[in-house]
Amino acid sequence: MSRLALTRYSRCYLSRLLNPVTSPLFYSSAATNRDDGSQTGPPPIRVGLTESAGRAVFATRRISAGDLIHTAKPVVACPSLVSFDSVCYLCLKKLMGSEKVQDRGVSYCSQECQENAKGFYDVETRADWSSFVDYCRTHNFKYPLMVKRLCCMIISGDLPADCLDILQPAALSSAMISKIEDGYGLLWNAFRKANFKDEDVAFLTKQWYTAILARIRINAFRIDLVGGSCGEDLLSLAAASVECEGAVGHAVYMLPSFYNHDCDPNAHIMWLQNADARLTTLRDVEEGEELRICYIDASMGYEARQTILSQGFGFLCNCLRCKSGD
Ligand SMILES: [Zn+2]
Ligand SMILES: [Zn+2]
Repeated sequence: MSRLALTRYSRCYLSRLLNPVTSPLFYSSAATNRDDGSQTGPPPIRVGLTESAGRAVFATRRISAGDLIHTAKPVVACPSLVSFDSVCYLCLKKLMGSEKVQDRGVSYCSQECQENAKGFYDVETRADWSSFVDYCRTHNFKYPLMVKRLCCMIISGDLPADCLDILQPAALSSAMISKIEDGYGLLWNAFRKANFKDEDVAFLTKQWYTAILARIRINAFRIDLVGGSCGEDLLSLAAASVECEGAVGHAVYMLPSFYNHDCDPNAHIMWLQNADARLTTLRDVEEGEELRICYIDASMGYEARQTILSQGFGFLCNCLRCKSGD
């Protein structure tokens, strides 16, 4: 099952995404990734179509178990409310006392992160977010905070308003939609009271807000940092990240959203020190083989997995493991 819809997308985004080799937006280039010594060119994957699951990611050469397939930068990442004081406001890296850079009530891990966040944070600090944050805190909502950050990034010119259109949206119940509308009202009010220009917030309609949340809902990854240094055994880090508790935040990516689900996956997504994702193989993969990750905790039994996949992602899994009844 693909997280990507075939119906709604911008042509420009689609062509860039289907050619990840030319999409530096969505993975770290070799130049920025050379310190791990494992990525020296474009990622060994292509995005293609399958009959049963829509888009999918395939290996373009043999990849050994534990190898890095590619890294991916988030389109948008946001710390969870409980992590606000303990992680970088931009990249979600855990903050060490000495290296903290403080700026108008939030902290960054480095001056580089402070500089990269300046565009959206200048927008964010113009408005009063107390009611909106109270709403998120009361309902224990995490995704509206991502939408708020996305809005600030769009207003600052960091991202286009259609940046997530290519992702498949979740089906929302009417109860969910009415809660979403409360959040929309509070977000809209915050911008309106801060006297943003009409043209700056013209994209922020109720339909846009609902559509963005529906996409974030099934495409956001929960980020659990496993820490560790370069060269550490990737397979044991992969195992550690499955067991790790306590998300530091959530993020949405492009390329990783093309990976289909499997309850016995051959690939794995994980995070070491910040929201930059790493896609690695869990076993040897042959050229042409589809790469799949597990969207949920693979240690759960058959019934629990089907329930979560159906309720959370809107499909019943038909992978080999599920077919065997395991
Ligand atoms: Zn940072
Ligand atoms: Zn399955």
